Amino acid sequence: MMKLFHTLDSDSLLSKGGSKFRQFGVFILIFIFLITACAPAVMTETGPTPTAVIAGEAVTQPTVQVDALPNPTIAPFRFFLPTPGAEPVSGWRPPLYPVPWAVSAYDHFYFARPIAADNVNWPLAEYRYGGVFFAPNIVHTGVDIDAEEGTPILAAGAGTIISADWGLYTEAPGNISDPYGQAVVVRHDFGYKDQALFTVYAHMSKIIGVVGQHVETGDVLGLVGDTGATTGPHLHFEVRLGGNTFYTTYNPELWMAPPQGWGVLVGRLTDEDGELLNLYPVEVRPLPSEVPLRKVLTYAKGAANSDSYYHENLVLSDLPAGLYKIAMEYNDKDLQFWVDIYPGQVTYFTFTDEDGFSVVPPPMPTLDFLPGTATVVP
Ligand SMILES: [Zn+2]
Repeated sequence: MMKLFHTLDSDSLLSKGGSKFRQFGVFILIFIFLITACAPAVMTETGPTPTAVIAGEAVTQPTVQVDALPNPTIAPFRFFLPTPGAEPVSGWRPPLYPVPWAVSAYDHFYFARPIAADNVNWPLAEYRYGGVFFAPNIVHTGVDIDAEEGTPILAAGAGTIISADWGLYTEAPGNISDPYGQAVVVRHDFGYKDQALFTVYAHMSKIIGVVGQHVETGDVLGLVGDTGATTGPHLHFEVRLGGNTFYTTYNPELWMAPPQGWGVLVGRLTDEDGELLNLYPVEVRPLPSEVPLRKVLTYAKGAANSDSYYHENLVLSDLPAGLYKIAMEYNDKDLQFWVDIYPGQVTYFTFTDEDGFSVVPPPMPTLDFLPGTATVVP
């Protein structure tokens, strides 16, 4: 398996920071987006200077030092990311559910995968949505799908190409130093809750398609490449809701149809103050087998958009249906919990300091959750 590692000059991105960023209520944060955010030396707040890492078999296993993170109430816990490329253990997936797929009233698996099923078409484990790389204010706003240069990139749903050029991030068409590289944006024919939906496909070696072109699901938009802030070919894929900006991204793992018979784990984990746990390591293991183990971090607190229904800060997709054990260390205790993953559905759990783990329905949506201030920018 190849690995993707990106280099990025964070300073070049900082100038873009600063925008109102609304979710439920109002919070403003400097949300420096980074489309790439893929480097093994991650998640230490002390290292604002990105470390260039060259992909290769000899890459050192990254070590994440959670105890360097800013929330002192979290018990120190050393966490090792899986070997790059080692997850998933199987290179096989069943066919995907047809899109749009929504078993419950709350789910919205509206998109097919932007890479065909004869290739790896699931997100890289190490660089999930909502992770922080290089510096505390550089957030990964999409998922990365490992693919070789030249692999066709497919429209995840029907829509119209509204951007197809260099310069998506810097808003400077033709800017070959833009971190997205060559990128395409599709505004979809369908929305969600009266809001427009967009998907973004970045780092292309070649754009195939022009602005104004209508595409159907599966139409080729371009070819996988390594343009922009990356040192290895891959597809960076984003889902944007309510506006075509990197402040309005949502976790693509909640929008791409799962493989048939497989499901998605979604969690909301909070501390004693009711605050979302920040980049907190959680292990997910299928039972009865003791292997393979999946490791996932919660979102960087305040730096990712949660789904309007789930308010999650953890998503792990592509789990074969069955019984799973969720384990984590919290306040020097080893905690564990068992959940069932159901085919084609979300399994939702919560963790609170007071009540521990539980499987409960999310709170009913209210008008408060509707981001009425978002502006659609086609
Ligand atoms: Zn990416």
